[in-house]
Amino acid sequence: MPQEIRAGIGFDIHRLVRGRRLVLGGVEVPAESGLLGHSDGDALLHAVTDALLGAIGAGDIGELFPDTAPENKDRDSSDFVREAARRARAAGFRVQNLDATVILESPRLSAHKGAIRARLAELCECDPSRVNVKAKTGEGLDAVGRGEALAARAVVLLAREG
Ligand code: MG
Repeated sequence: MPQEIRAGIGFDIHRLVRGRRLVLGGVEVPAESGLLGHSDGDALLHAVTDALLGAIGAGDIGELFPDTAPENKDRDSSDFVREAARRARAAGFRVQNLDATVILESPRLSAHKGAIRARLAELCECDPSRVNVKAKTGEGLDAVGRGEALAARAVVLLAREG
């Protein structure tokens, strides 16, 4: 019998504003603007959370962690990924691989991709070789291209353990 596998997809976009820290994939990145959000605004971790929840049919991040709940105010989004990964393991799955794309005009992420990859692997409890992080610009188009927002996409593949 073939091993049961599950795919999940996640997307998020947050507004970039001055006076906020830019936290991306759980890593603080020096930048002029940061992500606005009820939590720390980490769009990449939100996309990863949704990908994990999607793969196990567990709804979405807004259902689990409402942006109206006081306990989620300025919350470290690492908590969201950890909980989604915990649910995936509880359902009998482990991460086969995780692939993500961050779309932003600035700053360049090349110097931070390694740290983000390591952090994602830690949160998903998998080897860093199973995680990939890509970055690209919005080519000057739309809100992301104008530097007003940052978007992230993530795809995860889970396989049933044993
Ligand atoms: Mg979000």
